[in-house]
Amino acid sequence: MTVVEAPSRVLVGGERYATAGTYPIVNPATEDVVAEAPDAGPADVAAAVEAAKAAFPAWSQTSREERSRLLHRAADIVESRADELGALIQAETGALMHVARWFQVTGTVGRLRRYARGALEVRDVPLAPHAMPSTVLGPGALLGGNVLRRPVGVVACVTPYNWPMGGMAGKVGPALATGNTVVVKPAPQDPLACLALGEILVEAGFPPGVVNVLTSAGPETGAALVDSPDVDMVSFTGSTAVGMKIAEAGGRTLKRLFLELGGKGAAIVLPDADIPTAVTGISATWTFQSGQGCILPTRAVVHRSIYDALVEALAERANSLKVGDPLDADTVVGPVISAAQRERIESLTQSARDEGARIAAGGTRPGLPRGFYAAPTLVADAHPGMTIAQREVFGPVVTAIPYDTVEEAVEITNGTEYGLHNYVFGKDVGKAYDLAAQLRSGYVSLNNSLQHPEAPFGGFKRSGLGRDGGSFALDAYTEMQSVVWT
Ligand code: NAD
Repeated sequence: MTVVEAPSRVLVGGERYATAGTYPIVNPATEDVVAEAPDAGPADVAAAVEAAKAAFPAWSQTSREERSRLLHRAADIVESRADELGALIQAETGALMHVARWFQVTGTVGRLRRYARGALEVRDVPLAPHAMPSTVLGPGALLGGNVLRRPVGVVACVTPYNWPMGGMAGKVGPALATGNTVVVKPAPQDPLACLALGEILVEAGFPPGVVNVLTSAGPETGAALVDSPDVDMVSFTGSTAVGMKIAEAGGRTLKRLFLELGGKGAAIVLPDADIPTAVTGISATWTFQSGQGCILPTRAVVHRSIYDALVEALAERANSLKVGDPLDADTVVGPVISAAQRERIESLTQSARDEGARIAAGGTRPGLPRGFYAAPTLVADAHPGMTIAQREVFGPVVTAIPYDTVEEAVEITNGTEYGLHNYVFGKDVGKAYDLAAQLRSGYVSLNNSLQHPEAPFGGFKRSGLGRDGGSFALDAYTEMQSVVWT
């Protein structure tokens, strides 16, 4: 059953065309088919990369003002179609409507406008005059110079399912602002709003070939894109396992790589922490996108003096959250993206039981007739080495681990392969601030779970390579070029 109008063609060289096959996009709440999505293959990848490559020379020479104008125009169109896009995103992701509307649609408008301003931002660095003596390279001179930012070229933007349109905007915004051309490959589960955003960018006036969007059911299309010798950079957000494959494949042609990968965020709760503040912060793992977020505080690392009280308060909160239809106004926890994702969550929860942890809340499948639901779950009394404490669940599961000393809390927090985002809750903010120096993650939040849009975003260790966010994204999609004169 088609519930919303969805784009049905891929976008290559400014044209929309039908691929040889299609595949169904399923609404995670109803299990109905939202629409058929185009299933692009290797020939489509080759055509899209060729179009992006052909468009690059002219596009990279357009003025900053022109690039800024087009990004603002695209933001205007997204704004004017906010209701329709919100409904489409809600249907294909199963997100609560306010998440679809605020984080995806409003977030997309915000990012397009941020990088419309970013297009005008000059990040060139003048070099101080330098006196050079005569050498075999030439007579002595006073050298002046400028370090300039140049676009990388054709950028493959490969995005994950949990952040479809907003994630695409976060990549194409800075990539286009700095003069690159893009081939976008959204996640197979929910690519329809990304196709719509591609069409909007073309409607806004981006020339043919500057923006191309390919959707596909399987991983081969993304892999073919990464393999293409004519792709200069891969900007990937997704799992660490796929990120490592991309690093390997991209390494063969020495592509520029920007990788935003998995996370296993910890919230260290210090003995003096305000318990309600910590509970609200940690609950984001249940209340935000059913735990499908890379930055969420999925491990509660709690001082033993307040451990029982905090676990009790967390269990109470988990049990109070309404799970169900994302279109109901009082629903807090909607479905996860697919039956496969629910199975992954359930099997990791079972591993916690098998390895001796205690399920303090949730842990069983909610009794709803349809939809891919998982209950907000609290795993308590876990050991840091347990599977549930090491692996990324990407679902509404918090794992509570007690600690006795700050050194132990730091060791537990740093003791996974990830290093994306950690949290510290404690009344002594100075102490919490100092503690951040020992945490191996790209981001540390103190007593909150909000995101600063201008902060550099990315991970230590196997959580990624490089940073975007604010003006840092303008650096991520450019190469430095030194121009030196006498
Ligand atoms: P995924 O890694 O399974 O897929 C991401 C994208 O990669 C999809 O478009 C997929 O089709 C494509 N892909 C798969 N195999 C490929 C290959 N061999 N070559 C090229 N492309 C390939 O991730 P997912 O399940 O869609 O998303 C969840 C993951 O994303 C989690 O691990 C989460 O932590 C991570 N994530 C990270 C961030 C961040 O900013 N660090 C943000 C959101 C999500």
